[in-house]
Amino acid sequence: MSEVNEIRQQVEALREAGVNYVCASMIDSGSINRVKCFRLDELEHIMRVGSGFGYCWQTALSNDHIVSTDGLGGPVGDMRMFPDLDAIVQLAATPEWAWVPVDEYDQEGAPLPTCPRQFLKRMVGSAEKLGYGLRMAYEFEWFMGKMDGGQVTPIHGGPGYSANAWAVVEGFFRSLFEALAAQGVKVSQLHPEYSVGQMEVALGVTDPVTVADWHVLFRHTVRSLGEQLGYKASFSPITSPGLGNGCHLHFSLQNSARENLFSGGDRMLELTAEGEAFIAGVLAELGALVALACPTVLSYERLKPERWAGAFHGWGHENREVALRFIQGIVGQRSLTANMEFKAGDCAGHPYLVPGAIIAAGLNGIERG
Ligand code: GLU
Ligand code: MG
Repeated sequence: MSEVNEIRQQVEALREAGVNYVCASMIDSGSINRVKCFRLDELEHIMRVGSGFGYCWQTALSNDHIVSTDGLGGPVGDMRMFPDLDAIVQLAATPEWAWVPVDEYDQEGAPLPTCPRQFLKRMVGSAEKLGYGLRMAYEFEWFMGKMDGGQVTPIHGGPGYSANAWAVVEGFFRSLFEALAAQGVKVSQLHPEYSVGQMEVALGVTDPVTVADWHVLFRHTVRSLGEQLGYKASFSPITSPGLGNGCHLHFSLQNSARENLFSGGDRMLELTAEGEAFIAGVLAELGALVALACPTVLSYERLKPERWAGAFHGWGHENREVALRFIQGIVGQRSLTANMEFKAGDCAGHPYLVPGAIIAAGLNGIERG
């Protein structure tokens, strides 16, 4: 919770840039992006008292139903959501709006243990205490099409990865590149994917909390640019028979000297002992990770063999059919490029809980040797 003067300065800078409204985003337990919107004038007040959300969102399901347990959820009480002003951005497609992720507190000002964003921060903190750092990047596949009297026309007709498809989508790609750059979201690559109307982005590598914020911001940016051009975007795990939309999470572990522990070691594929133990920890918790990363019924229509969705329980060197694909990268550059790709996840997976749980599982692997 920032100092008043800093808040006022930020509000002024946003106003000068043309922002009049703020959309504050909370990702519930079912990984749906829930929002509260207010005028920029209200931001200073919200930074003092927070914005309210019921405790029911601690136990919301991905099918939009709400349940409660003995200890969580239910109709009583109010969570207080505090915007993280370090992460506020003006939205390029709708520049009168700024977007900001929130952290969840109770009314005594204590962080809520169920807040997914603070869980991820805690896991990053646990790694740091042990002298480790994490580098991560999300990669999304999604579908875009025009709705016409109940008929869906895909944005491109394939073939996958082709210049034919690129020629059709290049205008959208340009808008997307520019919008993401203006919002500080790094893009590694964009391409038309295998299925008609399917696209893919590899976002840039950064720290885990920023990676998760970009997950939320990226999907919103695609949707709102699509709306402006008359296209609907879908991040559903499956949008056409047989082919799924994955949301793969790349990760690597660093020591305190920022050296990549997935490279330069004396274990298999040049892994270091700590890197190997971290991966073993993640492998040991794969079933639990899939519950967080594939939370919908449709997730399991995607997570099948022969779709490169990572449906097999295991890890492999550059193997696109296993849940954990080890990418060593090109010789001479491996200290920069070696990483593990968690392939099983889809776009309905939880942006914050998945990376947080990967860190927890990996650290447990190191602890257990
Ligand atoms: N579409 C696949 C998935 O569902 C991934 C294909 C690829 O490796 O790019 O995850
Ligand atoms: Mg792909």
